[in-house]
Amino acid sequence: MSLTLYNTLTRQKAPFEPVNPPQVGLYLCGPTVYNDAHLGNARGPIVFDVLTRYLRHLGYQVRYVRNITDVGHLESDADTGEDKMEKAARAKKLEPMQVAQHYTNSYRQAMAALGCLPPDIEPQASGHITEQIALIQEIMGRGLAYEANGSVYFDVPKYNAEGGLYGRLSGRVVEELLAGTRTELAGQDEKRSPADFALWKKASPQHIMRWPSPFGEAPGEGFPGWHLECSAMSRKYLGAEFDIHGGGLDLMFPHHECEIAQNEGSDTPGPGARFWLHNNMLTVNGQKMSKSLGNFITLPQLFGGDTGALSQAYSPMTLRFFFLQAHYRSPIDLSDDALQAARKGYRKLINGLRLLDKLVGEGEEVNSEEAKTEEVKGPPTPAQQLRNLAAKPFAFLDDDLNTPRAVAAVFDLLKRLNTLAAKPEELAEVGPAALAAAAAAYRTLVLDVLGLRDEPRANTEDLLGLTLSFYQEAKATKAYDKVDQIRAALKEQGIVIKDTKTGVEWAYSEE
Ligand SMILES: [Zn+2]
Repeated sequence: MSLTLYNTLTRQKAPFEPVNPPQVGLYLCGPTVYNDAHLGNARGPIVFDVLTRYLRHLGYQVRYVRNITDVGHLESDADTGEDKMEKAARAKKLEPMQVAQHYTNSYRQAMAALGCLPPDIEPQASGHITEQIALIQEIMGRGLAYEANGSVYFDVPKYNAEGGLYGRLSGRVVEELLAGTRTELAGQDEKRSPADFALWKKASPQHIMRWPSPFGEAPGEGFPGWHLECSAMSRKYLGAEFDIHGGGLDLMFPHHECEIAQNEGSDTPGPGARFWLHNNMLTVNGQKMSKSLGNFITLPQLFGGDTGALSQAYSPMTLRFFFLQAHYRSPIDLSDDALQAARKGYRKLINGLRLLDKLVGEGEEVNSEEAKTEEVKGPPTPAQQLRNLAAKPFAFLDDDLNTPRAVAAVFDLLKRLNTLAAKPEELAEVGPAALAAAAAAYRTLVLDVLGLRDEPRANTEDLLGLTLSFYQEAKATKAYDKVDQIRAALKEQGIVIKDTKTGVEWAYSEE
């Protein structure tokens, strides 16, 4: 068994082999922090969180880098329009960095709620201007970029004339790009070709986020193009050749195509990552999510039930499980029905953990000696059958991270464990070693690899209210031993009961 991944660059699945095993470098394009993350923004981080978790489970030492875009992401992919950060800052009368900080905080909160492990390095574009300028100078040094009126553009036709493969990742043909976007060149006469893209943009007088540069007339104030940061930061933290670059399909062109061109145009040419992985998109009730359709849902809105498109709130773990039910390369449609089914499935898996606690203790060791002696020829023994069931989810994860099939296989395992719990004679046939191994596999899969966790569901106030009603009932029927019991139990939780004239109240114990 070995992990295979689908590489967009080669359009095929290939065995995953790291550049420097056991180290694995993984770069994921992070958020542009000018607004709250929406539901579609959650898919990539969840997919690549599961991949990171699985690689770690396989024994790799993963360095997971996810950037924060806080400068240079313009409204239009054609290098025009306002900087998204500055636009949001102007609208709210805030400093752009205040906007960046606010939405970085809310993004981290949402990701933590979704069970996504924090990246090992979370570099900000605005903190890596020096590295970006240095990369532009490398590209200019190779004659693949030119200066125009204080801005710098990557020369796509020249790059391809010299053997570059701009368009390889996204499957676009440069000639078509040139022909098709001729009209978009209007107002961008600095560019020699419509396919060229900005590495550096000269700042207009009203532009707030600006840094000095060696480009144009001194002090050359401007800001980096959006695509540049991911090349500069992935190279800085993972090296010129690293293992996996991830992102949503919507980033494949132009963002990743430009990243590859920049990497190839540097002093250490190469595509950057060996594997380019892309997660597919999300639709809501069958439609693309958009503000005009009224089905645009942010993560805080989903968790708070504050959406017009859905009937109720859904928890972060429900959303996580929902995404795991589709393969990352397939589109997925979100609706009340789908989320309710996800919630049911998620709870079933968590209840399975409780069943295991009952069946087998957490610390129970797997006896490997016993496991070996079970490897006999002939029809599989009940113990082997259980081991096979427990191995299946891992085999599906090995196959290009097929989480839906892995989840289905975990349910099969759970079904068998439920049967064993109900049938002591079958449980005895399986034996403690195979049972402990299956339980360990179940826990590893659900908690460590799929990254699900028990979400506290009960409302403390409601539970307290219920307890107080039992207390009053006990008092009314003069069941004083019950009364004392309830008082003592609540006291252990730091809660005291106060009898009042009108009934009963609770308060935190101040002892
Ligand atoms: Zn990026």
